[in-house]
Amino acid sequence: MKTIDQHYIDGRFVASHGSEVIDLVSPTDRSVIGRVTLGDEEDARAAVRAARRAFKTYSISSLEDRADYLQRLHDAIMARAPEHIAIRTLEYGGVARHNAFSIQGSAKVFLNMRKTLEEMPFRKRVGAAEVLLKPVGVAALITPWNSAIFMVCNKLAPALAAGCTVVVKPSESSALQIRLLVECIDAAGLPPGVVNVVNGRGDVVGDELTRHPDVAKVSFTGSTTVGKAVMRNAAETVKRVTLELGGKSAHIVLDDADADAAAAFALSAAFMNNGQACIAGTRLLVPEHRLAEMKAALLKASSQWKVGDPADDSSALGPLANARQFDRVQGYIRRGIEEGATLLLGGEGHPPGLEAGYFARPTIFVDVRNDMTIAREEIFGPVLSVIAYRTEDEAVEIANDSIYGLQGWISTGDPVRGKAIAERIEAGAVMVNRIFDLFDEAGVPAGGFKQSGIGREFGVYGLSEYLGTRAVFA
Ligand code: NAD
Repeated sequence: MKTIDQHYIDGRFVASHGSEVIDLVSPTDRSVIGRVTLGDEEDARAAVRAARRAFKTYSISSLEDRADYLQRLHDAIMARAPEHIAIRTLEYGGVARHNAFSIQGSAKVFLNMRKTLEEMPFRKRVGAAEVLLKPVGVAALITPWNSAIFMVCNKLAPALAAGCTVVVKPSESSALQIRLLVECIDAAGLPPGVVNVVNGRGDVVGDELTRHPDVAKVSFTGSTTVGKAVMRNAAETVKRVTLELGGKSAHIVLDDADADAAAAFALSAAFMNNGQACIAGTRLLVPEHRLAEMKAALLKASSQWKVGDPADDSSALGPLANARQFDRVQGYIRRGIEEGATLLLGGEGHPPGLEAGYFARPTIFVDVRNDMTIAREEIFGPVLSVIAYRTEDEAVEIANDSIYGLQGWISTGDPVRGKAIAERIEAGAVMVNRIFDLFDEAGVPAGGFKQSGIGREFGVYGLSEYLGTRAVFA
């Protein structure tokens, strides 16, 4: 049992001013594995003061120094990678096949950003002016629990590369994972006040950060509902915002796709990270005349998705992250049945023998219409909805008929045809017959259209979100 009662402010671990204490509960067996003291508005303000002081010198630090800090952050995380993986399994329920990707990816974003720094034209002559790129100021980084470390690193790298100082407000339910990350940040030896981390509730610490007049920028990853509140708060002092929000991504299986390959790909896209992934392909669009074949292929592929103890290497799916998430997923499964969808696999309740934790049954619905709740709303669990289509145009229309526009997925026997369809999908990224390499590519942007968000992360696109231009005529 670990107790976390400190924030990281001005280069030191400091006692919390806020006094609310919450339990951290293992999703695998519901035992209490830790306690965290949550900060309050005063903790948030102290962190902003420290970041504001540090900005004076950090904002004019050399690009060489910033590149060095990025390298050191990468090295510090990798030096403790096995601990990160163990805590991710304990606190979040992450399974081996996703943990390594997540932790190595978290470290790698710093190296990728180091490369991006070299490509960025921080000074450029445009006509009679010299255009300089300047850090916008103190950035508040607000992150969710579903990939706790990755989400923080993913924002930290561009903010620090740009010369911004930051206050991180991670999810209150990831305190053990974040504590280890903060120890790594501390070990990397950045100047005091450049990175500050405050544990706390969104409607307390998060709210204060999004309203604070000395915060120039908010980068938020989380639900669309909270993202809208963040944007409203930020408007009062005209902060810049980057919002990485929810998704309900379509996976189009074209009529030339191999059924077994498409089914395996579809389940990977839908069930990755225990089904708690913003980019998950949760609507599977299948040609009507190939439905029977795809159903059989999905059932066959589902044998690869064993649910079990996340510490066991053979488990492909761990538990959902917490009780609220478990109840939410159960509610959507019930709603799907009530609205007339048919269960091909899974359903309500726990898989047999896994009643002790927040384990859900991997679930596939067929006979789903795109106007059903399970096809409209983000479920954030291992639940896939199969929707039939007749023509390619209809498939594109269904894929785009969503308030979200985060990601698209395509299975096809003809990548050229797949690429042509990809260009018609209203989403920030589309994967044709492939998974995951998005985060391996240093310069490729990620982000959403429509209510999936504003702005982009990664590469020069992500770095630009923390920079403003200053044109100097001299
Ligand atoms: P959430 O919106 O509930 O919380 C996200 C963060 O915002 C947390 O740190 C929370 O404490 C904070 N917060 C809550 N209320 C706030 C307020 N009023 N002001 C400021 N901050 C506040 O999301 P979650 O449940 O932690 O995460 C799941 C959601 O995140 C899903 O919708 C998922 O799609 C989304 N997500 C998106 C991406 C992406 O890149 N687009 C990536 C991962 C997760």
